[in-house]
Amino acid sequence: MIAGRHIKLAANLALSPDLKAAFKYVISVRTLCELTAKTGSLDQHFTPSPTAIEGMLGHYVVTSRREHYYQTEITLTGEYQNIFVRGRADGYDPELNQLEEIKTYKGVLERMPDNHRQLHWAQAKIYAWLMCIERDLESISVALIYYNVTSKEETSLIEVFSAIELQKFFESLCTKLLVWAEQELAHRANRNDQLSKLQFPHPEFRVGQRKLAESVYKAAMQQRSLLVQATTGIGKTLGTVFPLLKAMPEAKLDKVFFLTAKSSGRELGLNAIRTIQFSNPKFHIRTLELTSREKSCEHPDKSCHGDSCPLANGFYDRLPAARIDALGLKMMDKSAIRTVALKHQVCPYYLSQDLANWSDVVIGDYNYYFDLYAMLYAGTVLNEWKVSVLVDEAHNMVERARSMYSAELSYGAFNEMLSHAPNALKSVLQKLNSSWVALNRSQQKSYEVYSYISEEFEQLLQRSLSKITDYLAEHPTLNDFKLLNFYFDALQFATLAESFGEHSLFDITKSDMSVGLFQQDSTLCIRNVIPAKFLNIRFKAAHSNTLFSATLSPSTFFNDMLGLPDKTQFLDVESPFDPKQLNVHVARHISTRFKERHHSHEPIVHLVAKQFLQMPGNYILFLSSFDYLNDVQILFKNLYPNIPTRSQQRVMSEGDKDQFLTEFTLTSQGVVFAVLGGSFGEAIDLAGDRLIGAFIATLGLPQVNEVNEEMRMRMETVFGLGYEYTYLYPGLQKVVQAAGRVIRTTNDTGVIHLMDDRYKQKRIRKLLPKWWLM
Ligand code: SF4
Repeated sequence: MIAGRHIKLAANLALSPDLKAAFKYVISVRTLCELTAKTGSLDQHFTPSPTAIEGMLGHYVVTSRREHYYQTEITLTGEYQNIFVRGRADGYDPELNQLEEIKTYKGVLERMPDNHRQLHWAQAKIYAWLMCIERDLESISVALIYYNVTSKEETSLIEVFSAIELQKFFESLCTKLLVWAEQELAHRANRNDQLSKLQFPHPEFRVGQRKLAESVYKAAMQQRSLLVQATTGIGKTLGTVFPLLKAMPEAKLDKVFFLTAKSSGRELGLNAIRTIQFSNPKFHIRTLELTSREKSCEHPDKSCHGDSCPLANGFYDRLPAARIDALGLKMMDKSAIRTVALKHQVCPYYLSQDLANWSDVVIGDYNYYFDLYAMLYAGTVLNEWKVSVLVDEAHNMVERARSMYSAELSYGAFNEMLSHAPNALKSVLQKLNSSWVALNRSQQKSYEVYSYISEEFEQLLQRSLSKITDYLAEHPTLNDFKLLNFYFDALQFATLAESFGEHSLFDITKSDMSVGLFQQDSTLCIRNVIPAKFLNIRFKAAHSNTLFSATLSPSTFFNDMLGLPDKTQFLDVESPFDPKQLNVHVARHISTRFKERHHSHEPIVHLVAKQFLQMPGNYILFLSSFDYLNDVQILFKNLYPNIPTRSQQRVMSEGDKDQFLTEFTLTSQGVVFAVLGGSFGEAIDLAGDRLIGAFIATLGLPQVNEVNEEMRMRMETVFGLGYEYTYLYPGLQKVVQAAGRVIRTTNDTGVIHLMDDRYKQKRIRKLLPKWWLM
């Protein structure tokens, strides 16, 4: 989670230089202190902090213990040269003339790192000075109140300061910030000036691209959300990034977030900015690529604190210089950040987290804005950033969001952890164990869905979490991975249990495996079905949103699943492709229904071979499962041994996949067997003769099983479209994605064979792209 930062310019700087001079650099008390008073090492020792709710409750408890005349949440402001500081003080006791800064914590107060304590004092003293100005005070008592959310006890550290002392302190921090403030003001003015003159990097827009760009621009100007279906080949990334950059000055946007499902999407986003930079040589906009800790850590064998990792040691002392170096880069991508980080000996991962606060465009995975602990969303809310969100390949959002808001607890893993758990935790964990065993025993079937989560189990889980939290706080260097894994899984589970509702299922799956001598393994799962409730607040926090993909039909499905704001506009962009480029055939004599599948092998094999022999080249045959794939491939090899084949493997590393793709060349020929919905069913680009045809031997319908049937029933209850929302729409979206691999440019030609009689049904055809014109 990022620290709260609040940088905002006082006004749109696309004005005359004289007027610009009148504007100040607006900053929150918290950010002022973090930028100027935070020193020392990174310290990510396991020191559990209170949750947001615990923090809010803690503040409430402390302030409600005060006298009736005690004042809370006092808005304060102050100025120094071109810096305007604002914030809200936690509390003030007019009788005692005492300003209070309240901090909640868990564990042992004495273990709080000194640099954290210094930072808290800095914040309290700045508020105290702003209070002196507002109330015309000559001196004030300043109290730092530490509230332990577990024991409910307060520890007060009190000092009295004269207004002159506080003023000097305030001015000393602001003085340190003057150069930074100047630089930020100049950057924003320069950025907006450049953006207002920015030229589209190509001589002309492609078919459909202008319409797309205009719509994205308007959505940003009118503070709306947009769902865009646009086929490959129109230049969607540039068609969305460019208009948003153009809108930034007038819409007074602080940031654009370009969010992707896969790392290949991040590369597309970075390339769009590089293309703009290439044709506008002086163009400099701070563009940041966010990568995960796993992918950017330089010392995976170490922990993130000064005693363990050299890049954490003294991190905050070296951060300002690293920050300035990085912000001067043309592009803050992963490798550039690594270079700067190593030059300054700071952690690249935490450097990039800091840079997100000062960047204009941030490119990263969906989870940075949409998941439960999303740092870009938290930054947007805390700092009141005005952001525009772009969601690339948005058809992936439904599944990705479901996994963000689901949680699982395995009894086997819990039981193993319990057998080695510290003695101090045994008692509470044993009680949880008994409750879990009772749940297992009361369930007769192997899979069952419940309309509620056992209250007793939930309470015991909460008590266990609270005990483990305290234990971990007292043993900050503990490296018990089984305990930590259970703790994090249980935290997610307990958090989602609090908001359990119609949007999710709670189910228990019992396995045949036994745990120990007497118990049966089981998995408790909060399974999100409709992520709309969780995503809606995130979409609403943004100034505007644009979600785009080649497959967003029907739009009502995505509206319902994603919780898009009211009045979200749906735009179906005209395809740049000529129907003559693509021959679409339906094999009505084939049924891929599960029960009839064994009859389908031969006709599929003959049809694929016939097409290949008629027009040799590169083809992909998509099937619904690996078992089906194996059966069909064996038959194919027997009947047509002279036609080269390759097949997707169940497990393939990123390197294997890249190698697999490079073997599609302009001169290669053969049939590739792949699974629909797998790695080669979307987001691969095989233009020209690298791919001239696809066979889709499935409707892509998810397997009918107990879980999917439960989801279908829930969809039926909520939307009245259980089958469509669970099976049909997700299936057809995969089909259209896979078939979309064939035509990538306006010069491509190719063929698609849809191998199932159901493709002739009207309701199915309605879900296929209009330009296929079957
Ligand atoms: S380099 Fe790795 S271990 Fe060190 S602070 Fe960064 S993420 Fe943590």
